[in-house]
Amino acid sequence: MKNISIVTLGCSKNEIDSELMMGILQTSNYKITNYLDEADVIVINTCGFIEAAKEESIETIWEMTRYKREGKCKYIILAGCLAERYYKELLQEIDEVDGIIGTGNIKDIVNLIMRLENGESKLVFTKNINEEYLEEIRRQNFRTTEYVKISEGCNNYCTYCIIPKLRGKYRSRKIEDIVKEVQYLVENGVKEVILIGQNTADYGIDIYGEYKLSNLLDRLNEIEDLKWIRILYLYPDHFDEKLIESIKNNDKVLKYLDIPLQHINNDILRRMNRRTTKEKIIDLIDTLRKEIPDIIIRTTFIVGFPGEDEASFNELYEFVKDTRLDKVGVFAYSREEGTPAYNFNNQVDEETKNYMRDKIMELQSIISYELNKEKIGKTYEVLIEGIEDEGLYVGRTYMDSPDIDGVYYVKTSEELQVGEFVKAKTIDCYEYDLIGEIIE
Ligand code: SF4
Repeated sequence: MKNISIVTLGCSKNEIDSELMMGILQTSNYKITNYLDEADVIVINTCGFIEAAKEESIETIWEMTRYKREGKCKYIILAGCLAERYYKELLQEIDEVDGIIGTGNIKDIVNLIMRLENGESKLVFTKNINEEYLEEIRRQNFRTTEYVKISEGCNNYCTYCIIPKLRGKYRSRKIEDIVKEVQYLVENGVKEVILIGQNTADYGIDIYGEYKLSNLLDRLNEIEDLKWIRILYLYPDHFDEKLIESIKNNDKVLKYLDIPLQHINNDILRRMNRRTTKEKIIDLIDTLRKEIPDIIIRTTFIVGFPGEDEASFNELYEFVKDTRLDKVGVFAYSREEGTPAYNFNNQVDEETKNYMRDKIMELQSIISYELNKEKIGKTYEVLIEGIEDEGLYVGRTYMDSPDIDGVYYVKTSEELQVGEFVKAKTIDCYEYDLIGEIIE
């Protein structure tokens, strides 16, 4: 039996693709190993979204090729967005790479390995970016928290974004299929599901002719033993009443929304081809805060987009200061070939971009600390995810998504289990993290 290691980079969507690849390989009698030294085949599931991610992918590929040069592994296979985008260059420039699996070719992984075993080389399976979700594949590995893809691809064509060219047109999965998968995950001990896609707010429009995220949430909320439903990547332009009511009234749907805004200046938003305006964004935030008490809003901004000047940057800075959003990530614009903005005039220099990013993050760290101080004395339900130190556990509340937000430390003399939910009273805080004492 061949041992396969899958190294996953990039976003949660890539994580699911790796899970599906593992499922396909395991049902074809391959063994998945986390030990690279044991691997006969190493698959690197790459990210090719922005410059920094591309560099990390290239570095990881070079690192993995060492296992082949030392004769430890037989084949190196690249998957994911960087592979889909630059397969020709990668095969030409890195001798150790034996095969390429594009973003829509996950199902070809076994075929590729078998053909390499039969003596073929430099095999490429790409250009199938509109492939439907592999509903027949069952994931084999289960954690307390699992991501669930509700759609793939995107039809928004933001001018800075290469995703539609790598992940294809917008494709929703059927409500029935998603409900079935979540039931299966819950039967295998999963307590929190995080709904993802390139843009989850558009869910259903392609297959049902109308937006159906609220219907999906209503169905998922009925699943027994499911504890938490979290939604990420909500495009801000159509939060209708039905969706807000569904988020508000479904007790398992966390009052935590990730809504990438990207900027607030109307001219920049227009040139990013974002289908929203400053006025609509402010309206949305006010409505969400009025309708859903204790709502936590996460967002991301891009600074240094071509044409960004002091005035537009200050407008964004003042917006962040006044709106006091709970969670904010800021990216310096990454000039991506193959995107319209790549050819825009008035490109901003790297130093200025980084200065803008750091200035907003500095402001947000102060806001985050002030908001955290207001949570002292309040009680929260905490999902325990590990032990930090003796008598100190680490976990998350509804206010924190894994990997991108802070954590909640729980002080207790009791022994807690990973996956356990406890009640804790907040006694202190840091900029992004909270500390509490167990009360139940
Ligand atoms: S919404 Fe815009 S930024 Fe997000 S994946 Fe689609 S095109 Fe890219």
